[in-house]
Amino acid sequence: MPTIPSRSTGETASLLAFFGGTFDPIHFGHLKPVTQLAQNTGLDHVILLPNNVPPHRPQPGASPQQRLHMVELAVEGNPLFSVDPRELAVDTPSYTIETLATLRKEHGESCPLAFIIGQDSLLTLHKWHRWGSLLDFCHLIVMARPGYHEQLDTPELQRWYDAHRVTDAENLRHQPAGFIYQANTPLLNISATEIRQRRKAGLDCSDLLPDAVERYIESQGLYRA
Ligand code: ATP
Repeated sequence: MPTIPSRSTGETASLLAFFGGTFDPIHFGHLKPVTQLAQNTGLDHVILLPNNVPPHRPQPGASPQQRLHMVELAVEGNPLFSVDPRELAVDTPSYTIETLATLRKEHGESCPLAFIIGQDSLLTLHKWHRWGSLLDFCHLIVMARPGYHEQLDTPELQRWYDAHRVTDAENLRHQPAGFIYQANTPLLNISATEIRQRRKAGLDCSDLLPDAVERYIESQGLYRA
């Protein structure tokens, strides 16, 4: 278990969280657990970071602009969220670690920052570019996801996880980076893959994502063929 230095100011630091994803499309499996997480842990703000998908990977069904627009529609008027389109503004693939390094510079050395991922992302985190350095820049908050077990894919990843895990979210405010918090978020069995498949089959998706996003998908004819 990592040691937790006490803050010299005695003040409660605000905690800023980032949530990256392809969001093809954004859905309630993203939004509801994060909202609950914010309520449970007193997260002040969550910034959604839509990813740029590298050319050699399977391309999203929606364009970067359409994915960005869907994310904006999903959180319009919701003060918990904002959207940062920086990874879509460049053509080159953006690595999470590089974005986090930039965010750390922008927010200063002492501001607690967290990056939110789902359990499926944690299981394969060792495939991320420079994964072992992620905690130099932020904390990781892991949300449970139905169908994904807890055992990590490699012993090295498991050791790293065990060495940094904390069980009290309050720890995330006590230092700027370096902890992993496994959040007890509601389990929602929703994926963007399922939404794309349902659209292709002409099935209703209204329970799975916000109305405004669904209307936009329909108006753009997305994921139909
Ligand atoms: P796809 O089905 O296309 O792979 P997805 O539904 O997993 O997409 P992403 O945009 O790839 O959505 O996910 C962004 C982040 O949200 C990832 O860290 C992922 O683990 C997490 N996430 C997605 N859906 C859920 C869910 N239902 N519960 C918890 N975490 C989720």
